[in-house]
Amino acid sequence: MSFKKNNYIFGPVPSRRLGISLGIDLIPFKTCSLDCVYCECGRTTNFTRIRKPFVSVDTIIEDLKPYLNKNNKLDYITFSGSGEPTLNSDIGKIIDRIKKISDTPIAVLTNGTLMDDASVRQDLLNSDLVLPSLDAVTAEIFNKINRPAKGVNILNTIEGIIKFRSEYMGKIWLEVFIASGINDSKEELSKIHNTILKIKPEKVQLNTLDRPPAYDNIKSITMDKLDQIRDEWKDLPVEIIKRIKKREEILSFSKNLENNILNTIIRRPLTIDDLSELTGKHNLELYKYIDVLAKEKKIREKIINNKIFLIPFEKQIK
Ligand code: SF4
Repeated sequence: MSFKKNNYIFGPVPSRRLGISLGIDLIPFKTCSLDCVYCECGRTTNFTRIRKPFVSVDTIIEDLKPYLNKNNKLDYITFSGSGEPTLNSDIGKIIDRIKKISDTPIAVLTNGTLMDDASVRQDLLNSDLVLPSLDAVTAEIFNKINRPAKGVNILNTIEGIIKFRSEYMGKIWLEVFIASGINDSKEELSKIHNTILKIKPEKVQLNTLDRPPAYDNIKSITMDKLDQIRDEWKDLPVEIIKRIKKREEILSFSKNLENNILNTIIRRPLTIDDLSELTGKHNLELYKYIDVLAKEKKIREKIINNKIFLIPFEKQIK
């Protein structure tokens, strides 16, 4: 399968985890080896662990060049977006080509499920930072929170991440997403903690739900509970991820874009994909504005027929 979209490259966007990040999205929406209950991209429609090129290496490099020439001050060039980036079988070639034209560090956000494949681990060796996620360590909880594709196994995933740690010279920042009533039991958290000790990441980043998820019965845990986990895991380098809530934190903030978003949503509820189509901006870029507008109680998110819609704050939609 090949695909063509308007924006393989997006941003730069400010990221709590990565500073100022230029995004590269190598995957057709929404192609993933998992269907995490908290996924901000919505439900996985192309459920696979089979790697494909999807888009030519030259196309990505040519699309990227103008962004590098703009004199952007970037902390990272980051592979993320509409699914699992390591499903792109050319990611290693793309990383190698970027290294030849840019000094900016390269980060890869991954769910880690393909790391049991030696060629995937090999592909990531030339990057500077890999950010795998690990929300569960038992099959039961993994199935509940990450809903894996056929052939994806949590024990193989963990083994793959541990192997990668021993082969990789760059940094690993591990994200753990905690959902209330799913993976926040003392028992599972203790097992996750023990597994992280074996992985030995440079950072552990705790996260919880901050906007409507792909599945509507998912609940976040409180900030106090996150603090408590951080305190209990004091032998690990833990930090808690918080979202951007202020305009001044958005690089190249555009009042026009903010007004466009507001004016459009006031007229009719839209999904993030509708909005992306209308504005030509990538979902992850739009979310920065949406977070600010939501914080100011101008818009909110609501699940209607299993889809996340953006609606004006006051409007009640049944
Ligand atoms: S791994 Fe990432 S993209 Fe895939 S379903 Fe989970 S959160 Fe979404």
